[in-house]
Amino acid sequence: MKEKLYRFMVGRNGNDELNRFLLLVCVIFMLPAMFFSKSIAGRLLTPIALVLLGLTYYRMFSKNLLRRAEENGRYLMLRGRIRSMFRVKKEQWVQRKEYKFFVCPACKTTLRVPKGRGKIKIVCRKCGNSFMGKS
Ligand SMILES: [Zn+2]
Repeated sequence: MKEKLYRFMVGRNGNDELNRFLLLVCVIFMLPAMFFSKSIAGRLLTPIALVLLGLTYYRMFSKNLLRRAEENGRYLMLRGRIRSMFRVKKEQWVQRKEYKFFVCPACKTTLRVPKGRGKIKIVCRKCGNSFMGKS
């Protein structure tokens, strides 16, 4: 049986990070759908979860490895961007008592200024643009 499954999966995509994420979303949609199966929301969530489950299996058994790797790569890049955004926000929250954060109006770079210096001229290190801000 194990040998048969192994032979079946040769040359197929198998499980990757995007599939794990899709399965997680599928479970998240399935649970309320099970408990509130009579409500409209419950009835709407079930087909969405089933489509996601189908997509997961399609990706798992797909032999178009290049395309699946591209999709997975795009997912990983997006996930990395979202995680890094949360990391920066968390870091700003930790430093909120000592520093004030400004966004450069020209290049949108986040700038950190020590708090309690009054109204100061802030110069962007990236583009050299300067603007006034209250620290
Ligand atoms: Zn700038």
